[in-house]
Amino acid sequence: MLISSNHCLFRRFTKLSRRLFRCAASMADLSKPKPVVAVVQMTSTPDKEATLDQLTALVTRAKSRGAMMTFVPECADYVSESRDQAIALAEPLDGPTVSRYQELARTLKMWLSIGGYHEKPTTVEEAKRIYNTHLLIDTEGTVQGVYRKIHMFDIDIPGAAPSYESSYTIPGSSIVPPVATVCGKVGMAICYDMRFPEMAASLVQQGAEILTYPSAFTVPTGMAHWDTLLRNRAIENQCYVIAAAQVGRHHAKRSSYGNAMVVDPWGTVVARCHDTIDICVAEIDLQLLHKRRSEMPVFNHKRHDLYGHVLNTTILPVDSRSEYQFGPHVVKSTCAFYRTALSVAFVNRKPVLPGHVLVCPVRVVEHLGDLTAAETADLFLAVQSVAEATKKHYRVSSLTVAVQDGPDAGQTVKHVHVHVLPRKPGNFQDNDDVYKHLEKHDKNVGAREWRNDDDMASEAAVMRTYFHVQ
Ligand code: AMP
Repeated sequence: MLISSNHCLFRRFTKLSRRLFRCAASMADLSKPKPVVAVVQMTSTPDKEATLDQLTALVTRAKSRGAMMTFVPECADYVSESRDQAIALAEPLDGPTVSRYQELARTLKMWLSIGGYHEKPTTVEEAKRIYNTHLLIDTEGTVQGVYRKIHMFDIDIPGAAPSYESSYTIPGSSIVPPVATVCGKVGMAICYDMRFPEMAASLVQQGAEILTYPSAFTVPTGMAHWDTLLRNRAIENQCYVIAAAQVGRHHAKRSSYGNAMVVDPWGTVVARCHDTIDICVAEIDLQLLHKRRSEMPVFNHKRHDLYGHVLNTTILPVDSRSEYQFGPHVVKSTCAFYRTALSVAFVNRKPVLPGHVLVCPVRVVEHLGDLTAAETADLFLAVQSVAEATKKHYRVSSLTVAVQDGPDAGQTVKHVHVHVLPRKPGNFQDNDDVYKHLEKHDKNVGAREWRNDDDMASEAAVMRTYFHVQ
């Protein structure tokens, strides 16, 4: 009796102390200052120097309002009067205008999102058009993200001049993984991209907490759709949406809608610029964002089995990190040769046959059943790409593709992985002997029997040539 009431008391005490701890923790969080962002609304003109002066003054004003990161709209460098002028004024990424942005970020110790920069391509055959490029620059002036607009604004609607962006702009070919900044993980997009919810979903799936749509919206489309589109993207993705904007008359033929704003994950417009050259500021509350996501977990409720999945299978540079985790092992990035946001492929330290490689999710997950739908789809698409490259390189028409799911099936490394082995006639006496070899090849292996890193790196270097990194 005594024991059980003591036990009861103890439980109550533990509950109470847990509650107190949670309360103290959340009070501590409340007292932590939230990052302040500023959003710029400006009127760029064909005069690059005057436009840069305007931008500098607005960003400096943002600093005085306490902003740690400032978002500048599309056409931050200029708005041209013609297609030819747009191309003629463009600069490469290492041109003087980007250097001035970098200097500004360094001087003000502020992150900058330069929402749309006319980027002159470096190759001659591309030089007839530009890229519409969004840059993220950190407080050291280092460019941390480069996104080239993928959706072209080729439209002809009543009340507005027709636009054929693709006549002078090369569409980008990848969605860029979100960049960790001082105010959260930022997903980069530009203007017209806001009409494509699949892109937003892909960025959020990759971890974005803030979606950015730096814009130069036309007045008729802005009046009809601007607020609704931005609030939709925030609500359905439960994230912040930050949209810097061009405003007013740029020259005789072009005006922009303005209404630069910040929308919170509940869809509330928490900051909006006045109808002129202006800035507005807002706090970014990531705790609120994650609270909203846990209160209404729409991402867990999605029925990907019924309407499919938005996937980002963009091939990323393998060396963007120095190593990958493979269960308890560390695999140097030099030994990897294929990578998406969710999967990685690397060469085997003890191959059963030449060309025996492994594909696994980037996240350490023990069982196949524990993968998310996106990881499962991405893993098998990765296996397919790796398998095709393996076939080509080893000139084979057959492969063994195997997953050992759990120790009773022979899995020794507790991290889902797919073995891909090129197969040639006569590899083994019986074809399925491959499974006996898979069972034994890495058991009781002495340290000297593993391949060395240089050997593995040279195999990976050859396999990398089969994949075009975005
Ligand atoms: P399993 O026995 O199915 O779990 O397979 C594990 C596979 O991982 C074997 O083919 C090993 O040769 C391979 N392996 C283990 N450690 C490494 C490593 N650090 N780098 C590359 N391959 C590895």
